Amino acid sequence: MYKKLFIPGPTHVRDEVLQEMARPMIGHRAKEYMDLQAEVTPKVQKLLYTENVVFLFTSASSGPMEGAVRNCVRDGKKVLSTINGAFAERWHEMVLANGKEADVLEVEWGQAITPELIEARLSSGQYDAMTLTHNETSTGVMNNLYEIAEVMRKYPDVCWLVDAVSSMAGAKIEVDKLGIDVCIAGVQKAFALPPGLAVCSVSQKAFDRAQEVKHRGWYFDFLVMLKYYQRNQTPATPSISHLFALNKQMDDILAEGLEARFQRHIDMAEFTRDWARRHFALYADERYLSNTLTTIVNTRGLSVPELNKALAKHGAVIGDGYGKLKGQIFRIAHMGDLTMDDMRWVTGLIEEIWNL
Ligand SMILES: *Cc1c(COP(=O)(O)O)cnc(C)c1O
Repeated sequence: MYKKLFIPGPTHVRDEVLQEMARPMIGHRAKEYMDLQAEVTPKVQKLLYTENVVFLFTSASSGPMEGAVRNCVRDGKKVLSTINGAFAERWHEMVLANGKEADVLEVEWGQAITPELIEARLSSGQYDAMTLTHNETSTGVMNNLYEIAEVMRKYPDVCWLVDAVSSMAGAKIEVDKLGIDVCIAGVQKAFALPPGLAVCSVSQKAFDRAQEVKHRGWYFDFLVMLKYYQRNQTPATPSISHLFALNKQMDDILAEGLEARFQRHIDMAEFTRDWARRHFALYADERYLSNTLTTIVNTRGLSVPELNKALAKHGAVIGDGYGKLKGQIFRIAHMGDLTMDDMRWVTGLIEEIWNL
């Protein structure tokens, strides 16, 4: 049976968007393709409030996450890996796997990375880049980009790399105003598209840095990508079906209105948090709660897999805790094209099943 996804990715995809994936194929060097890329790219730039280059690239979000580190860090310089959960931890592993040196700024899971902590580390001047997970999907913490931007402004030599995988298109991220050098997401989260396409904005500073890096790989070499971008193409064959779907989805996102879309996410978040406080407790620091998912302490020690079995009969599924938090917390995502009615429906079902 078809299940509506309340897991933090992939998220529910509307039928109209799925239909776009079924369009007849076109050649990726043909004019139709170049027109398509030229049409959809500015729509994503609008979403990100940026004039930077925005690559639409065929891979999971992890692709440009790895690419960002390869392109923006020179030999002899280091990365500052900020870590407050499982996805940030994995990004740090990618940094090391690519032979880059890194220092770790780590806080306890459920806590946020603060500007004070960052400043204390960046002032040593050893860093070419800093990685930051905007919305830690494992803990439900949303770091405050606007606070952090104040500090980053003082360190113009540091490329600011942001994993916005589970927040982009669900929370406001003004890339140019914030000064984010590389801002990354996959479309299977708040964009509400099927997985397989990544979005990645790249600043001039990041391109300049890439010029000074010897081995950038090839598939995610920002300079090779840029060469093709300038003629509305990608170096390798892209998932053209995704661009059809993204083009349609961006029209719908812009028709909803960006502010309205972000507000809908805030409304769903507030509703879900209130519900969670009433029946359980919130896991994340109250000052940094995510707008796209809520992490809930399993205070009653109930079985989340059993719950999901029961929910499946009604056509819904929620998220268990991620990694070491499995069983201790559960996660309800409220991102993408979900609505307040959906949140009322799924929380009502949980109340019924668990007799809350
Ligand atoms: C889902 C997620 C990822 C991994 O995304 P992929 O598209 O599977 O590579 C990375 N970071 C965060 C914060 C995520 O939520």
